[in-house]
Amino acid sequence: MDIARNPASIPGNASLADAAPEPTAPDTIRRLDYQPPAWLVPDIALEFDLGIELTKVRATLTVRQNPDAARDQTLHLCGDNLAAMDLLVDGNPAEGWSMSGSNLLLPLPGDAHEVTIETHLHPATNSQLMGLYASNGMLCTQCEAEGFRRIMFFPDRPDVLSRYTVRMKGDRGAFPILLSNGDMTASGEDEDGTHWAEWTDPWPKPSYLFALVAGDLVARRDGFTTMGGRKVDLAVWVRPGDEDRTEHAMRSLINSMKWDEEVFGREYDLDTFNIVAVSDFNMGAMENKGLNIFNTRYILADPDTATDGDFDAVEGVVGHEYFHNWSGNRVTCRDWFQLSLKEGFTVLRDQMFSADMGSEAVKRIEDVRILRAAQFPEDSGPLAHPIRPDSYQEISNFYTATVYNKGAEVIRMMRTMAGPEKFRQGSDLYFQRHDGEAATCEDFVKAMEDGAGLDLSQFRLWYEQAGTPRVNVAMTHDAGSGKVTLEVKQQVPATPGQPVKKPMPIPLKIALFDRGTGTHDGERTLQITKASETFTFGGFAQPPVLSANRGFSAPIQLETEASDADLTFLAASDDDSFARYEALQQLFTRELLGATDSGPNEPRRAAIAEAMGAVIDDTAIDDMMRGELLMLPAINFLIELAAPADPVALHEARERLKAYLGTRLRGRLTALHDRASTVAYSLDAASRGARKVKTQALILLAAADRAETARRAEAQYRAADNMTDRQGALAVMSGLDVPARGELLADFHARYADNALVIDKWFAIQASALRSDVLDAVETLAGHEDFTMKNPNRVRALYMTMAGNPFAFHDASGRGYRMIADLVLKLDPINPQTAARFVPWLGRWRKIEPVRAAMMREQLSRIAAARSLSKDVREQVTKSLD
Ligand code: ZN
Repeated sequence: MDIARNPASIPGNASLADAAPEPTAPDTIRRLDYQPPAWLVPDIALEFDLGIELTKVRATLTVRQNPDAARDQTLHLCGDNLAAMDLLVDGNPAEGWSMSGSNLLLPLPGDAHEVTIETHLHPATNSQLMGLYASNGMLCTQCEAEGFRRIMFFPDRPDVLSRYTVRMKGDRGAFPILLSNGDMTASGEDEDGTHWAEWTDPWPKPSYLFALVAGDLVARRDGFTTMGGRKVDLAVWVRPGDEDRTEHAMRSLINSMKWDEEVFGREYDLDTFNIVAVSDFNMGAMENKGLNIFNTRYILADPDTATDGDFDAVEGVVGHEYFHNWSGNRVTCRDWFQLSLKEGFTVLRDQMFSADMGSEAVKRIEDVRILRAAQFPEDSGPLAHPIRPDSYQEISNFYTATVYNKGAEVIRMMRTMAGPEKFRQGSDLYFQRHDGEAATCEDFVKAMEDGAGLDLSQFRLWYEQAGTPRVNVAMTHDAGSGKVTLEVKQQVPATPGQPVKKPMPIPLKIALFDRGTGTHDGERTLQITKASETFTFGGFAQPPVLSANRGFSAPIQLETEASDADLTFLAASDDDSFARYEALQQLFTRELLGATDSGPNEPRRAAIAEAMGAVIDDTAIDDMMRGELLMLPAINFLIELAAPADPVALHEARERLKAYLGTRLRGRLTALHDRASTVAYSLDAASRGARKVKTQALILLAAADRAETARRAEAQYRAADNMTDRQGALAVMSGLDVPARGELLADFHARYADNALVIDKWFAIQASALRSDVLDAVETLAGHEDFTMKNPNRVRALYMTMAGNPFAFHDASGRGYRMIADLVLKLDPINPQTAARFVPWLGRWRKIEPVRAAMMREQLSRIAAARSLSKDVREQVTKSLD
């Protein structure tokens, strides 16, 4: 069979203008303004005198002029909320220093000096959770991206790499455990009830990788011998009482270490690897060298308190942070515009790891679902940015699904184009070339070109251009010649600051199915490079069925002219499990978008029911995949496609389809639920799959017969010996108006009253309920004694869940929008980083029908009008209003 490439006219290419510059705000930082640091800090010694109320820090910096930078006799030290209590240069009081805003400028006469600075910190009142803070009686740090400057005046930028020695002392009773980066090199006890420890990290690192933990902690310990024979002591540190819930995290760590050796050839490089779980944490976890610090929700897991999804998240995040030891720590970022260099690559690595630990096919579908629900809306909204942004005001706002998840997709495409072996050669070269350096995305791309033998000249556009490319594939068949022609057109939508786009290079995996035999003659990867081009294939007596973007080979929005019959065919027969899932999703999507205008399409609904029935009956797929295939698309994804959308109309259409399917498939869903209910609990795929289909069956049945399903869900709840079944049943119950609902919610709360992570679930289950009184419930829960604005997990459990519940957030009264704006205003002074994360929900107003859109904008304006706003919230609100 031949493949003929026929580059057609290229309309997009003629008018390629360079992107217009973004409007400049006073404190906008620009990628192209990068200058190397004038001073380097090869060594830093830190001394901490620890206390929850007051911690004194003394730092001695060895500084020397950077031979590769323009000479500047002033040492610029970043500070945030710091005062220098003592400042010495070469042992003598410093002269001529000044403050520039919160930064310290220190003139230095020579080429090399020793600078000593003392600062005083107040961890107990640090509610931002950046720098040194107190959590549950312990002290811990978060320095990425710019938290170190809240501990010590320092050139707090990732291209200044230093060797750290950390000595800390503190009360033995309050802080029995003292941890920092590297290995412990000395320790001792003093007579006054204090003790001290000294930690040395031989690997030069940027300040954002510094970490310290002090507190009453217990460890699960284990060991790992690296491929080079290094014996590493492993410990997962938690609060006393939590140690029984660390087994899975430890197993995940050991699996990660082994996997990175086997798959990427990466070996661990210290004798100690510590993980600490803390309950107050802005993000998921942090890859500090040798001392990873985690949000408890990504460490603690046991069957009674964690769902299968939680177990997976622990495995994925433990892997992610461990993999950073090479992709992030050994090779770090030159500046924060390069964030995707470490995050995109590391997300890809954790995705590959999880795929290898479980089911590759299911993992791929999950990752695409996340991309579509979180990244696609970002990429088409006011906060769209390339995976390597060109400017920012507050870098914390750029820890986004674009930098992380789209960044991973971009590197995944390189891997698809190169193949696994060549890709490995590329990554080997990257690590070898840049070990010990602060590198750029360009360095990565170059290493991939040289090591993997790819030409990535056009591919660099994936780093430069924001926006999800829209690709349209039209197929024609010529019966006389037996030729099939695919006409492929692409368009990258305009995004803020980038009105005109160039065509992207897109590896598009396709297969052409014979309708009769249900097979195809091999998968092909089309290399799309132009705005419009055609591909021709011979040997088709009959028009084939096109299966395109198999495995989701490119992060694009694909449009084809597939008929419902084609999609039904692919949903039943595609041998690519992602494509099979996708065909079903497209059928759902068509039906749901169509139903909001013109009501249900009877033949299509019937076809969907039949396809779903086939999925339930198919013995060739396992339950994990079956559960995936039975899931309807999320409203937040449908909003993207419908824009401007009426979210409640979409919700109602989705409920109607669920009810229809639940009714049509009642017998089979009930049988599925019965069959799955007999499977005993274990963590293996069969048992997990059974739990997954159980909940999916309940969700569909609940829409069809509330009373009967409530009985079934209650029975599942009461019989449950694990959190997956219990939470699944309670979530279904919580959406129903049945007497047992309140009773089970109360039971759940009482049962887990002392477990913060499960109480988070209790809040989230109620905030996600598809019920008319959900906003009342959220308001009541905000006044519950277990609610606090100080704990990001709790705030997210209630309010992020509500914002993600279209039925609640988009309530026609506008009350959901008001509640989120109120939250942002109230949380901003406490924790600006977490507050800013809620703004994008309101920023999606352009996707929503005009009446609601106006109310969303009004709430953004109300936030913008507040007298004092953090840089974090200010940036997000201003951009969202544009
Ligand atoms: Zn990361």
